[in-house]
Amino acid sequence: MLIVMNRDATKEQVDTVIRTVELQGYTAHPIPGGERTSIGVLYNQGAVDDALFRTLPGVKETIAVTKPYKLVSREFHPADTVIRVGDVVIGGEQLVIIGGPCAVESEEQVMTIAKHVKMAGGDILRGGAFKPRTSPYAFHGLGEEGLKILAKAKAAFGLPIVTEVMDLDCFDMVENYADIIQIGTRNMQNFSLLRRAGHAGKPILLKRGMSATVDEWLMAAEYIVTEGNPHVILCERGVRTFVRHSRNTLDLSAVPVVRRESHLPIIVDPSHAAGYRDQVMPLARAAAAVSAHGLMIEVHHAPESARCDGGQSLLPDQFEILCRQMRAIFDVSTSTKS
Ligand code: PEP
Ligand code: MN
Repeated sequence: MLIVMNRDATKEQVDTVIRTVELQGYTAHPIPGGERTSIGVLYNQGAVDDALFRTLPGVKETIAVTKPYKLVSREFHPADTVIRVGDVVIGGEQLVIIGGPCAVESEEQVMTIAKHVKMAGGDILRGGAFKPRTSPYAFHGLGEEGLKILAKAKAAFGLPIVTEVMDLDCFDMVENYADIIQIGTRNMQNFSLLRRAGHAGKPILLKRGMSATVDEWLMAAEYIVTEGNPHVILCERGVRTFVRHSRNTLDLSAVPVVRRESHLPIIVDPSHAAGYRDQVMPLARAAAAVSAHGLMIEVHHAPESARCDGGQSLLPDQFEILCRQMRAIFDVSTSTKS
């Protein structure tokens, strides 16, 4: 439940409401707003009796929260969350484009690709130093050496970096280097990792689990936000279905649903959804058309020799064209948004 205070409610009135919530054994989460304060009620088992609160001085109304997630819901927090990373604004009026290789392979590889991403107008550089792979025999990333390479590319091209954290063991290290910490599809319900992410001082890019519903995904985000980190970026990356023509099925309908239900920014990764290069550009354009706040796209200058996901990586020329197309489409879609 959300308890909305009058515009002119005093601090004492707010404190009384908080105390009353706590006396019931619940947790009060004050949400200061531009115009008025609201107080979220958390950790209630079952419905909260709103009669207890409606009559308290300074209370305007109580709103039943119908969703299992609270802090990430629009009901709790109507305004969009906007996240700033250096000069890049995620969740604002501009489309944010993240590009880069699947995995950091070498300094030369990352520098070459980072230069292309920069020249194409990309905003953020991606690249995995710790790679979750289906096969234990596959390339698992360069570890800290890979993070150092990303840091060099950041210094050279001024692009913030997003990179994946795979487990608690490497969390501190990844947090040290990354501007945005990625939690991958396989870890979306790794609850200890989510809780640790809630204590990180960096934004978290939370990918949708490959079989997760939107509610489960938002509950995973809720874990991070309840622990104290409000800076979560959601990333739709395709879900597992029966089809064989693509690696996953990109669920673009999740974008308007998330935009309606949550205030968190949502971006789309068409690369891991598609799995094949020829599908990435049309899906990316479609993601811009449904007003995703950003795109994350794999790019490689020599995909035939990539150690990971070469078959879905765009060539630099394709990425450059796509950046222009996506920005134009996003502008049209957001200007006509109903
Ligand atoms: C990635 O972005 O590098 C990745 C492994 O993606 P996902 O977790 O969506 O498979
Ligand atoms: Mn990849």
